[in-house]
Amino acid sequence: MSMDNQPVIVPAPDAGAGEDRMIEDAYQDLLQGYLNSNHRKKVEIIERAYHFAREAHKGIRRRSGEPYILHPIAVAKIASQEIGLGSTSICAALLHDVVEDTDYTVEDIEQHFGKKIAQLVAGLTKISGGIFGDRASAQAENFRKLLLTMSEDIRVVLIKMADRLHNMRTLGSMAPNKQYKIAGETLYIYAPLAHRLGLFAIKTELEDLSFKYEHPEAYSRISEQLAATAEQRESVYNDFARPIVEKLAAQGLKFEARYRVKSVYSIWNKMETKKIPFEEVYDLYAMRIIFDCDDQSQEKTLCWNIYSTITDLYRLHPDRTRDWISTPKANGYQALHLTVMGRDGNWVEVQIRSRRMDEIAEKGFAAHWKYKIGEGDEESELTVWLRTIKDILDNPEPNAIDFLDTLKLNLFASEIVVFTPSGELLTLPANATVLDVAFELHSQMGYHCIAGKVNHKLVPLSHKLKSGDQVEVLTSQSQKPQSEWMSFLATAKARTRLRAALRREQQPVIDSGKKILEEELAAHAVTMDNEVITKMLGYYHLQTRDELYMAIGGGDIQIDSYLARQAKKTGKSLFSKILRMGGLMDKSSADTAAMPQKEHAVINTKETYILRNDDDSANFRLAECCNPIPGDDVMGFIDDNGEVVVHALNCPRAQVLKASYGPRILSTRWAVASALFLATVHIEGIDRHGILQEIIQMISTHLAMDIRRLAIEAVGEVFSCDLVVRVGDTGVVESLCDKIKNINGVKRVGRV
Ligand code: MN
Repeated sequence: MSMDNQPVIVPAPDAGAGEDRMIEDAYQDLLQGYLNSNHRKKVEIIERAYHFAREAHKGIRRRSGEPYILHPIAVAKIASQEIGLGSTSICAALLHDVVEDTDYTVEDIEQHFGKKIAQLVAGLTKISGGIFGDRASAQAENFRKLLLTMSEDIRVVLIKMADRLHNMRTLGSMAPNKQYKIAGETLYIYAPLAHRLGLFAIKTELEDLSFKYEHPEAYSRISEQLAATAEQRESVYNDFARPIVEKLAAQGLKFEARYRVKSVYSIWNKMETKKIPFEEVYDLYAMRIIFDCDDQSQEKTLCWNIYSTITDLYRLHPDRTRDWISTPKANGYQALHLTVMGRDGNWVEVQIRSRRMDEIAEKGFAAHWKYKIGEGDEESELTVWLRTIKDILDNPEPNAIDFLDTLKLNLFASEIVVFTPSGELLTLPANATVLDVAFELHSQMGYHCIAGKVNHKLVPLSHKLKSGDQVEVLTSQSQKPQSEWMSFLATAKARTRLRAALRREQQPVIDSGKKILEEELAAHAVTMDNEVITKMLGYYHLQTRDELYMAIGGGDIQIDSYLARQAKKTGKSLFSKILRMGGLMDKSSADTAAMPQKEHAVINTKETYILRNDDDSANFRLAECCNPIPGDDVMGFIDDNGEVVVHALNCPRAQVLKASYGPRILSTRWAVASALFLATVHIEGIDRHGILQEIIQMISTHLAMDIRRLAIEAVGEVFSCDLVVRVGDTGVVESLCDKIKNINGVKRVGRV
């Protein structure tokens, strides 16, 4: 059952004679309009389609109580008279709800009316739920692609547009909750689409109708204000127009002068965007001059002649002349616009068009065929037109941004629709985050996602998105998939991809960790059995073997220091000879009791102690209170175990030690660093477009630094960023800070 119409079956289909008359009149009206058009007169097939549809919808009524068949007749009339389509489209419009709402199938239609009409009806049935209707997630994944699919025969979109227009015109009889949804959908999807297709009159009407239901109070307030000022406005207009009309008539021009009042919706839009009251909207009306001209090659000259006549009478606004004749708009619009000052001192816009240009503006490309030389064949004309539409959709510039800005979808609570910077549209579950979008776009983007920009503001990758957000994904090659990400992913696709990536990423580490453990244990004649593993898991607070292997393989656990500890406990001399000091990553380095005493016995506190850190051993330990890195000004302290602990000179703990344990203090010097150290740099600044990319690029390309972790937080206009890098010494960090400081927008940089 179609979402829009909700047919109601009436038990006693006793359509009175008056009703039959009404239906017949509506049909004759449609037919007459078609016969008056320039199309070939294929009345017979239209006649058959009408009877077929009438029979199929027999006994069904719309919510308003009218016979259902009046709806398809009205849609066909819009398609024919307001969009300018021919017999094939009229038939498809008459039949557009038959497959959806009755027992007839597309095959039935094909049998009776041929393949083309059946295809159109099938297309219309497919999108009957509305573009973002019942099958939203399946269909709306990519709006533009969807449009292209539909526009394999653009008539599907156009008839759908006619259907939507009629539903909007009769929206008053719908249930209020549906009214709101349909009106919103119309404003966000169909009106912009009509604009893109060049259906200006339909676009304006759809906007006004949607606006009326979405903002009933604003609509009636503006309507009242328009009505209250109408008389005065008209008299001002008449005073303005009279001299122009007289002069043009005197030149023998055949033309029509129209007084165009701005639509309620566009007045409201102007008031909203410019934050002005009704009284300050000065371009409430425009003058439109439509002239008749049989020779298309003369149109441009005539336009400029009229322009010249007007500017002889009134003062021209210096920069509001728009020549859409030499360069038509992307949707085919052609006209010459100028703005002149009226006698009351207000600016008035005048639009000059030929009859042909006017019809194209109102009816879109469908009007083109009328003016082609020779016999107009709907099929071949449509092929040309279709190509044009595809070009527009393929090439959304320059109006794409406006188009997308209008497409602020908020139709489903369970789903959101967001846009990529290139205008791609993505449908995601509610609560989806920037990272979901990254994975949605490409696995690689997901794996390397570091942050996002939502509506041009920097946000963390866990940021939850809202419908209508424009989302840009920021990536860095140094970023790697993190298991914590799992907690804020909303799409199954992203979760699956992340899980697979983590497994891929971790497997080699797990394998190497397992190998290291096996080798170490074997070297010391310890059997790798459940008891040993369980003990280790307990000691390191880990759950599974894989986690243990991961920790060993990743260097988070130094298996030798564990063994040393065990050796000390059990007193097995077997272990004593293999003791080595762990590296920096050794979380268990507190187990310094295992350090062989003899190594420290020779420390001469009167000499400067050289701090060495070779591949897998160091003759010192870094104090956890101040975490100095090579290059920092430091001092050594010989702890109770005889190990040298290195503190920053300005560390408060070091002050205490100096005061209390003078004899155990060492002066120290760094040996030439061979290993790399982790340093955390804190950056703060004003968020501006591209700043993060600049910072990342600076670090990774100019300084060839290894980024280990990057955490970004954005609050309002301000972002802060904690960066953990692997560096050789402080000099590198300092030059890094200096370079980052020079990036425009960065306010503070410093090592933590
Ligand atoms: Mn319909």
